[in-house]
Amino acid sequence: MPIFADISEDTLCISPESIEKLITKKTKAIMPVHIAGQPADMDRIMELAAKYNLKVIEDAAQAWSAKWRDKGVGVIGDIGEFSFQASKNLNAGEGGVLLTDNAELAEAARSYTNCGRGKGKGWYEHYILAGNYRMTEFQAALLIVQLDRFEGLEEKRRENAEYLDEKLSQIDGIKTLKTDSRVTKRPYHIYIFKYLEDKFCGIPRELFLKALEAEGIPCRPGYPFPLYENPLFQKKGKGPGFCPLSCPYYGNEIDFSGASCPVTERISKREAVWLRQEMLLGTKEDMDDIVGAIKKIKENAEGLRV
Ligand SMILES: *Cc1c(COP(=O)(O)O)cnc(C)c1O
Repeated sequence: MPIFADISEDTLCISPESIEKLITKKTKAIMPVHIAGQPADMDRIMELAAKYNLKVIEDAAQAWSAKWRDKGVGVIGDIGEFSFQASKNLNAGEGGVLLTDNAELAEAARSYTNCGRGKGKGWYEHYILAGNYRMTEFQAALLIVQLDRFEGLEEKRRENAEYLDEKLSQIDGIKTLKTDSRVTKRPYHIYIFKYLEDKFCGIPRELFLKALEAEGIPCRPGYPFPLYENPLFQKKGKGPGFCPLSCPYYGNEIDFSGASCPVTERISKREAVWLRQEMLLGTKEDMDDIVGAIKKIKENAEGLRV
């Protein structure tokens, strides 16, 4: 049963203060997401895990190669996972890896990805209810060749992201994110900045995004609302994919309609602007185009007001 903690204003990663307030006797694990490539505060999270005897599952889907105090994310907690889905920095269309140094968990994970088969057991013997999440060798081959050029692409993205940070932070009404000083390697998946409508004559983010698209800059609002507002968590899940067998929420009494993460709500619904990672592979002139388009909107905001 997931319980939703709020995020930190400056990094958009899970807030340790918010986590601690939500811990109860029933809490089993903390699941930080290293969002957009930015590691969550793993010092505080591991401290909380030790204090309350909890497991830590790192969602590093967006953070391949990120380092927290020189340690790679995904190997700090009990389990770490990475995604190779089509949008990710390292991708094979679909797929992912799970890392753990716990042999028992590793075996369970292998069984879950392989229709519940047992280690060293027969192909037609199934021990747990599971699906086929196997990645193919073809996908692995695609990934292996990408490893060679990953560093170079990653540096390019970082260089451009840092350039955008410098230029965009000079625009009143655009807030760039901070990188925690304990982050020793910061890859960029999505480039996220905050848009403050008050400084743009009150034009809502959706209109700002439309104007930015009209200037030829692809952009997105990102996650449209906090996870707990998903139909699944509001007990409105009925469509295809809502499987009572594998879904622990089915028929559950817990009601998420009271969940409240004010920072997540404000940022997801009003402030966040996403630029996809491919855009950070452009030239410096491309970055100047992004900055120029935002400045143009700012200068003409009055005229965009409805
Ligand atoms: C992409 C992503 C996932 C899901 O990865 P899949 O490989 O599509 O299952 C999970 N968490 C985050 C933060 C992601 O960005």
